[in-house]
Amino acid sequence: MKTLCKMRLNTDEKPDKALRKLLSFPKYYCRKCLRTAAEKGALCKPEKL
Ligand SMILES: [Zn+2]
Repeated sequence: MKTLCKMRLNTDEKPDKALRKLLSFPKYYCRKCLRTAAEKGALCKPEKL
């Protein structure tokens, strides 16, 4: 799975269901990119929120 960190979120495109779910209930954040996600696998330097 591609990490959210590497993914460029295109604002013109609606994120698919799986991606929305990852973004809606964040449990982890990335120490490097400061992104949040529900799964630590989606981040390059995951840290629990
Ligand atoms: Zn990252």
